[in-house]
Amino acid sequence: MNYNQPLSGNDMGRFAGPSTMMRLPSQETAEGLDVCFIGIPLDIGTSNRPGARFGPRQIRAESSMLRPYNMATGAAPFDSCQVADIGDVPINTFDLKKSVGIIADFYRDVLTHDCIPLTMGGDHTLVYPILQAMKEKHGPVALVHVDAHADINDEMFGEKIAHGTPFRRAVDDGLLDCNKVFQIGLRGTGYAPEDFDWSRGQGFTVVTAEECWHKSLEPLMREVRSKIGDAPTYISFDIDGLDPAFAPGTGTVEVGGLSVWQGMEIVRGCAGLNIVGGDLVEISPPYDPSGNTALLGANLLYEMLCALPFVKRP
Ligand code: MN
Ligand code: MN
Repeated sequence: MNYNQPLSGNDMGRFAGPSTMMRLPSQETAEGLDVCFIGIPLDIGTSNRPGARFGPRQIRAESSMLRPYNMATGAAPFDSCQVADIGDVPINTFDLKKSVGIIADFYRDVLTHDCIPLTMGGDHTLVYPILQAMKEKHGPVALVHVDAHADINDEMFGEKIAHGTPFRRAVDDGLLDCNKVFQIGLRGTGYAPEDFDWSRGQGFTVVTAEECWHKSLEPLMREVRSKIGDAPTYISFDIDGLDPAFAPGTGTVEVGGLSVWQGMEIVRGCAGLNIVGGDLVEISPPYDPSGNTALLGANLLYEMLCALPFVKRP
């Protein structure tokens, strides 16, 4: 089997060549792929700073720095799986509800090819339709959710669909295996002291940012793996889970967040789980003049790829 390889920086300057994730080949559908990268240029679900519609494009641009082998974990994703970038979901940028339907249909098609989707956001609304498609394929999924926010509002401005409501909708629709849901990095000011209790009431495990401060998260991830076992697991990584010192290019900023290395420990710590998909959301390039937030997002998506079940690891 000849697996697709990222275009090497020794064959074509990193500032040149195709703007696909990791400069992988692009194709129209997920046919024949084990894993696909997908962009969702959506930011009409955001409640504060917009700009995440530019996320996929910027993540792809910054991903040109990535090389194929993971020097820390030994993972060699392009030695054992077929990966390509299948482009962007053609959302309707004037209609959030229609966009949710378009996204769900797009992922249903991806999943008919038994392909694992790794998504470049886009605002966090997009996880709701992805989880709808996941449920139809896998049943309710376990979830590793990194975020400053629980995203479990019932409504925002009277709307049921927004970037602060996806996990409430997911529970309403029975998309999650609630006792295997971990929300990591939650913090900031609230509307009420009980803001995170709704999550706990559903059976979610909430790990606040303060509980993570000054620590390695490897022990936490051991616990996550033992509680989730072999259940189908989705990873949803909101970049605002990390501290704005590391990831300023996002829309809804909270201080006191996780570090880059804690974020990497979380994603690397998902290796061994039965991961069925993942996303990296809420990067807003207009607030990311250095490109570092998008670079970080590209690296975290690469780490998700390296953590997938059939990837070669030592
Ligand atoms: Mn958030
Ligand atoms: Mn979020």
